[in-house]
Amino acid sequence: MSNKAFMPPKRLLMGPGPSNVAQRVLNAGGRPTIGHLDPVFMEFMDDLKGLLRWVFRTSNTLTMPVSGPGTAGMEACFVNLLEPGDTAVICRNGVFGQRMVEMVERLGARAVVVDDDWGRAVDPQKVEDTLRQTPEASLLAFVHAETSTGAQSDGQALAELARRYDCLSLMDCVTSLGGTPVEIDSWGVDAAYSGTQKCLSAPPGLSPVTVSDAAAEHIRQRRTPVQSWFMDFRLVMNYWGSEGRRSYHHTAPVNALYGLHEALLALHEEGLEAAWDRHARLSADLRTRLEGLGLHYLVPQAESLPQLNTVRVPQSVDDAAARLALLREDGIEIGAGLGPLAGSVWRIGLMGESCRAESVEHCARAIGRILQLPAEATA
Ligand SMILES: *Cc1c(COP(=O)(O)O)cnc(C)c1O
Repeated sequence: MSNKAFMPPKRLLMGPGPSNVAQRVLNAGGRPTIGHLDPVFMEFMDDLKGLLRWVFRTSNTLTMPVSGPGTAGMEACFVNLLEPGDTAVICRNGVFGQRMVEMVERLGARAVVVDDDWGRAVDPQKVEDTLRQTPEASLLAFVHAETSTGAQSDGQALAELARRYDCLSLMDCVTSLGGTPVEIDSWGVDAAYSGTQKCLSAPPGLSPVTVSDAAAEHIRQRRTPVQSWFMDFRLVMNYWGSEGRRSYHHTAPVNALYGLHEALLALHEEGLEAAWDRHARLSADLRTRLEGLGLHYLVPQAESLPQLNTVRVPQSVDDAAARLALLREDGIEIGAGLGPLAGSVWRIGLMGESCRAESVEHCARAIGRILQLPAEATA
């Protein structure tokens, strides 16, 4: 044990999350803690819900931050939308699709899995074939932006298929929200969850969730109580729900919510379309530089995420040593490969605050040095 305060080093966070947090957002988190049932805090909660509806592009009443990281939002959606014995079609093209399968099975429901290669988008044709053969399915779940590989799937097409085959749709938009278009209402997505630490660039630990009226009704009609008391949306709704009728459920992470609110304000000032455009432009710039260094992308360009760029580690390079050198010498964190991709890819994030022209340049130069190529090649 040391009796010194912890002073984190300055890092440029260019991995799969967390991303850098702007000073104004950190400052917001340092404002005085007030009671979570204080009338002023309740007004703040309403304002925050409005900002979340704005960023999700939805008018869903049930839109709120779950007190927990993205994984908590994921679990909250599954435990509310499924009951033991239900069947869900789950699209799996990376780590987070696999996590969905495990959650579904743990709650006693059946997962019918549609597999696609790691590094590719979900194939809507395969999903349609599976939905046709699985009329008992009540839910279709997919990851919009697979952070383990850098592949983006077609959220609109998948939500449409769910509707056509009489299923609710659940979309993981942890990495897409704020970085690439997410259109909850116009795509007709029934439930979605995100995270604060990717393209929203707020501190980790909160999971914005939105649920359509149809999905909320489905939850109200459950035959069995939600197995998780903490995540039961019917109870949480009384806390985050309509004005003036709030009752204690759990103590909201007050200061973390200040941070999320400020991060959403910053995004609102920039404009959502402008933020999407910034991610697209700078990722194209990064691609030009990395390909100029001779690196190859894992995901075909048409399916690749601007905010998560996955490149193959050249045979001649020691993956772990290279990442450690980037961290120690350049203060840059990039992500390692996960699962079957461990050791063979780097995941370079351009998320939210970390998605800046200077970051692209700094990172490409540092990688150029690691590859022992002249830095001029990155220009
Ligand atoms: C990061 C991530 C999660 C999990 O979020 P945590 O905050 O790490 O729990 C879920 N899904 C996707 C696609 C992610 O990128």
